Amino acid sequence: MLQPREALGKVLESTQSSAPVLAPLAEACSLVTAEEVVSPTAYPFFSNSSMDGYAVRSVDLKGASADEPVILPLAGEVRAASGETLRLPPGRTIRIMTGGALPEGADAVVKREDVKEAQGRITFYRAVDPGSSINRQGEEIAAGTVLWPAGRRINPAALGLFASQGIDRVNVFPAPKVSLVTTGDELVEVGGSRTGGQIYDSISPMLVSCLEQAGAGIAGVLRCGDDLNALSGTIQEALKKSDITITVGGVSMGDYDLVLRCLEQLGVERMFWKVAQKPGKPLFFGKSGRKLVFGLPGNPASSLVCYLLYVLPAIRQMMGYPEPGPFWYQGRLAADVSNNDSRTFFARGIYVPEHPGGYRLETALGQSSYMLSSFAGANALIELPPGPVTLEAGRKADFTPLSWTEPVC
Ligand code: AMP
Ligand code: MG
Repeated sequence: MLQPREALGKVLESTQSSAPVLAPLAEACSLVTAEEVVSPTAYPFFSNSSMDGYAVRSVDLKGASADEPVILPLAGEVRAASGETLRLPPGRTIRIMTGGALPEGADAVVKREDVKEAQGRITFYRAVDPGSSINRQGEEIAAGTVLWPAGRRINPAALGLFASQGIDRVNVFPAPKVSLVTTGDELVEVGGSRTGGQIYDSISPMLVSCLEQAGAGIAGVLRCGDDLNALSGTIQEALKKSDITITVGGVSMGDYDLVLRCLEQLGVERMFWKVAQKPGKPLFFGKSGRKLVFGLPGNPASSLVCYLLYVLPAIRQMMGYPEPGPFWYQGRLAADVSNNDSRTFFARGIYVPEHPGGYRLETALGQSSYMLSSFAGANALIELPPGPVTLEAGRKADFTPLSWTEPVC
């Protein structure tokens, strides 16, 4: 049986990044650039005023003071949208709005609050330094500057930056399309009526929201009973319309665990089945051409652990992340913890930052594979080495924060 890190290695080896596409800005946020984004033009495009005020030649205000103000006649007005660039004659001033093109000859702007205007004559009470209140042409960005490197996730500010440059499309790695197939005669959709022996499908809403959070496209959420033909048809449909197919349930040793048989019939190449971990041992991973297939175990906590540790990194690798995760840190156990199983145990727990540094780790109560209450209150998976072993309080253990699944800019 593969160890968890070997299994992740096999998943990532088999996962190629998506073919880059030229995406409109509105669809590009949070995606990773497939090539660098370069500025086509210098920015600002033209020198403009950073204030509502008066454009002047700074020499004209030399020596101005409260006692000896300088008065300049008004020679015109520039609004932000004015197309033409006015010319400022010596000894005059031009009223200018924020963003207005600086008149030719002007080298400073004095803000409106600092002057007095009466009958077309403006009184200045202070000298002004050349360059004051001016956004100079090209001062921020030279033409040909790398605005964004290849391989970095685009954040909202970057989108604004691209838009300011007139860039309306960027080359990015698109998110994969993912289908989810839940299996089991016993499952009822939440909101439906449940009879004895049935349970609600808790995994679909959980994994759909995980996939949405990861930015993946949801190609389909399908539900199927334990019938070989029906299951085969459903999985085939899922394979056809998605880059990643996730099945849930039916990968263990039960008489009605039909997923493996179906996948084999459909020609899915088995990369591995079973990982030496708890929960999540029956995980299946296979390929159909470039497409990936994950067979997650049906117990809800097992399926979520397998999603976090194997499916999400594959999604992120397809999306061009340089580091697909998960990210591991070390903390110290707050109490003695035993792992009586021969497999690595991924315990749901809590990490708490400690003063002056480091983390304290607390495992949650209720670690059975079907239990989601402990997961819902957890912020980490804590890795306990294969047992039987007891780790005493104060010992170091690896953990991965569940927050690594959240989108980061
Ligand atoms: P299986 O691997 O199909 O035998 O499922 C293992 C356990 O997980 C069984 O108790 C199933 O009823 C349960 N299970 C399977 N799929 C789901 C699901 N979508 N939601 C909640 N429980 C499930
Ligand atoms: Mg089942």
